[in-house]
Amino acid sequence: MDTLKIGFIGLGNMGAPMAANLAAAGHSVTGFDVAGTTAKGVTPAEDIAGAVTGADVAITMLPNGSILRQVAAQAITHMSSGALFIDCSTVDVESARNTAEAAENAGLLAVDAPVSGGIGGASDGTLTFMAGGSVDGFAKAQPLFDIMGQKAVHCGEAGAGQAAKICNNMILGATMIATCEAFALADKLGLDRQKMFDVVSTSSGYSWSMNAYCPAPGVGPSSPADNDYKPGFAAELMLKDLGLSQQAAALVDADTPMGAMALELYRRFVEDEDGMGRDFSAMLPRFAARGRDD
Ligand code: NAD
Repeated sequence: MDTLKIGFIGLGNMGAPMAANLAAAGHSVTGFDVAGTTAKGVTPAEDIAGAVTGADVAITMLPNGSILRQVAAQAITHMSSGALFIDCSTVDVESARNTAEAAENAGLLAVDAPVSGGIGGASDGTLTFMAGGSVDGFAKAQPLFDIMGQKAVHCGEAGAGQAAKICNNMILGATMIATCEAFALADKLGLDRQKMFDVVSTSSGYSWSMNAYCPAPGVGPSSPADNDYKPGFAAELMLKDLGLSQQAAALVDADTPMGAMALELYRRFVEDEDGMGRDFSAMLPRFAARGRDD
């Protein structure tokens, strides 16, 4: 393996363990975060320029698209032609495309590569990457995806990784709500939750939400429901991703009523109810406590 010089920007919950895994694999990683956070084996930099100057690869793991655009605009000016810019944040498709264009105009390769797998996947190096960008960019990024994750799918041109991520999470949000409301209905019909699971998990209503991440405590495989709905995948992160999917749908005039309803329900759950900081499957106790007119 060639030892690469990597500049890593955004050492938060996800970025810090990802950067540490790259360093542990033998790469020379320099990191920067406005909050002053660091990661094991990563040399701290004073600023963005300090992290990426002379780097073969820059990786960003940031909160949103507007921060990505600001960071990328600075980072790109300090990188050499032929270097690779990988953004692993979850951002809007337009920001991903805009960042790739700016990087490519500066002679860089660019890949948008949002992840699934959460903080556990970031620490264990078992993330899934969904990537958009050129074939050359993806090929150069792949050995790094192999260190930080277990699977990387090249989805298409710039923005295709973000498109795949938000479509997946739109299905997930809507399916989790459908699963939770069905459990709440089953409760009121006097149907035992275990029986409900036994039937649905082996019938046409099955899904990842039911089979792998069952929102009912004590039923199905171990999930955040068994841990008082501690995340897991926090409801506010689902809200973010549903917002991005509706933003993208508006951009391309796609009719996504289930996604829009899921966004509205998670918005209410996080902003007006007790959903903030709880796992996104905590929609089940929410529905179970309500009636039709609540
Ligand atoms: P986080 O808030 O813990 O980390 C983001 C980091 O970026 C913070 O440490 C912050 O200080 C830093 N930052 C902000 N502005 C900066 C700037 N201008 N320059 C340098 N650093 C800056 O968030 P996270 O949970 O690590 O998530 C990062 C991204 O990954 C988000 O886009 C999120 O949607 C996505 N994601 C998160 C999860 C998860 O489970 N946490 C799962 C999949 C995807």
